[in-house]
Amino acid sequence: MPDSPPAPVTAEDIAEIIRAFPFDDYGMDDVDIALHDDPETQEWVPALAAAVMALLADRWTPPPPGDRREQLPDRILALVDVPAYTSTACELADLLAAAAAAHPEHAGELHEWAARLRARCRANNKYTGALCASPNHPEAAGE
Ligand SMILES: [Zn+2]
Repeated sequence: MPDSPPAPVTAEDIAEIIRAFPFDDYGMDDVDIALHDDPETQEWVPALAAAVMALLADRWTPPPPGDRREQLPDRILALVDVPAYTSTACELADLLAAAAAAHPEHAGELHEWAARLRARCRANNKYTGALCASPNHPEAAGE
């Protein structure tokens, strides 16, 4: 169980990556001029973007189902009456299924979207770990 949440990415974190990035022989003034005069052909731009994205992905990737990174510590959850949980994906999937009954001419497409959303269900609440209680959940239906 995590005792503290992961540190969010700050502007200073990104500035540090930019300052540490190997711009070959260019100084920051040269980089500024190159970006201003010819931004489309700077070969280092994708590598710098990748370095920034790597940091963002490391810190910002939503935890996968079951991951405990963002869940409250058990000692804190023990103090809370955790409510039943239905994921937003499954809530919307249930609405789509109901719409299919009301609009049979679109039923096929509506059921496809409902299935897609149920497949995207996080399965558990990312903060409490409570399992998704949708009665139409694939696991609940034994699929
Ligand atoms: Zn669900």
